[in-house]
Amino acid sequence: MKIHEYQAKEILRKFGVPTPRGLRCDSVDEAVEAAKKLGGPVWVVKAQIHAGGRGKGGGVKLARSLDEVREHAKAILGMQLKTHQTGPQGQTVRRLLIEEGADIRKELYVGMVVDRGTQRVVMMASSEGGMDIEEVAANTPDKIHKVAIDPAAGLVAKDAEDIARKIGVPEAALPQAGELLKNLYTAFEQTDGALAEINPLIVTGDEKVLALDAKMTFDDNALFRHPEIVALRDFDEEDPAEIEASKFDLAYIQLDGNIGCLVNGAGLAMATMDIIKLYGGSPANFLDVGGGASTEKVTEAFKIMLKNPNLKAILVNIFGGIMKCDVIAEGVVSAARQVSLKVPLVVRLEGTNVELCKKILADSGLPIISASNMADAAEKVVKAIAA
Ligand code: GDP
Ligand code: MN
Repeated sequence: MKIHEYQAKEILRKFGVPTPRGLRCDSVDEAVEAAKKLGGPVWVVKAQIHAGGRGKGGGVKLARSLDEVREHAKAILGMQLKTHQTGPQGQTVRRLLIEEGADIRKELYVGMVVDRGTQRVVMMASSEGGMDIEEVAANTPDKIHKVAIDPAAGLVAKDAEDIARKIGVPEAALPQAGELLKNLYTAFEQTDGALAEINPLIVTGDEKVLALDAKMTFDDNALFRHPEIVALRDFDEEDPAEIEASKFDLAYIQLDGNIGCLVNGAGLAMATMDIIKLYGGSPANFLDVGGGASTEKVTEAFKIMLKNPNLKAILVNIFGGIMKCDVIAEGVVSAARQVSLKVPLVVRLEGTNVELCKKILADSGLPIISASNMADAAEKVVKAIAA
């Protein structure tokens, strides 16, 4: 789960990671009021969307007067902000963060991820802050320093100060920077973080270290023990079809093709998308209905897929292991009737009670195209669109 910068900073401050003072605003007037409250002479007006690269896209602006705060807030609120992380359509800006301006002497980078290779949280830091870390990694990988953190010991003071020194934190600020990195790790660990990124981490003119930007995402599988984080979810930032799917416990990701896929199991869903591609088609979505797909769930899955205006055909690919094929077939027939399906539907079912399943599909009177294996199914669905 993703959150906004202003929310990540609230969490970080609770764990003792210093940030500039700031206030979240939803309107231009609120932004000006916030700037007055914070006090001058310099403020930063920051678009709050679930994507990075806002600065380059015009979503982060420095203001040197209250009039400039108003001007920038007006321009940024409601804009369709395009960054390398939003896709070409961009993202509508609905919220702002007004912050006191910081006196930047150095821009550094620090990030954290759960690294499957080492099975540890890895902290990555670099002297090259404020730019795309992917570029630094590609061009000057020696400028990225990594430490895999022992979960029993946590980030120890010595390692924290070592990293801070390597990325160019001045000697006088090392103890404070070390403390900041330790607290950042604690915040990540205590909230079940999946990713945290402070880009830039800055050294100020008076040698203080601050998180100037903050991005945090959390492990969805651990959200059940963090109701305070679940409460930070901003539905405006998510795809409506994916929100609908999550209500029914369906794993759904919208893609840009035109063949809807309804599959049980993530692995089979991936394989289904691959074979559609192999036969010259393009999947409209990833959809895993899970192991216990009920009629209701299958129906909801159909409804969600059909909301996609690009949809030209549907491929149902189910392996009935724990689930029985006849139960799925009943679900497919009932769903196809309820949504009065207008696009071709190709069904491939294999496994327990498959003969009974075929009979149910044939007897339904619905124009369902039956397929005998995955290749056959992919070929038929691609042909159905061309026809
Ligand atoms: P991002 O582009 O989405 O990563 O947004 P950031 O929060 O990182 O802001 C982009 C850039 O704006 C930073 O790298 C800084 O160079 C600049 N910036 C942000 N806040 C301040 C500030 O308080 N003072 C100054 N001088 N620059 C700032
Ligand atoms: Mn940034």
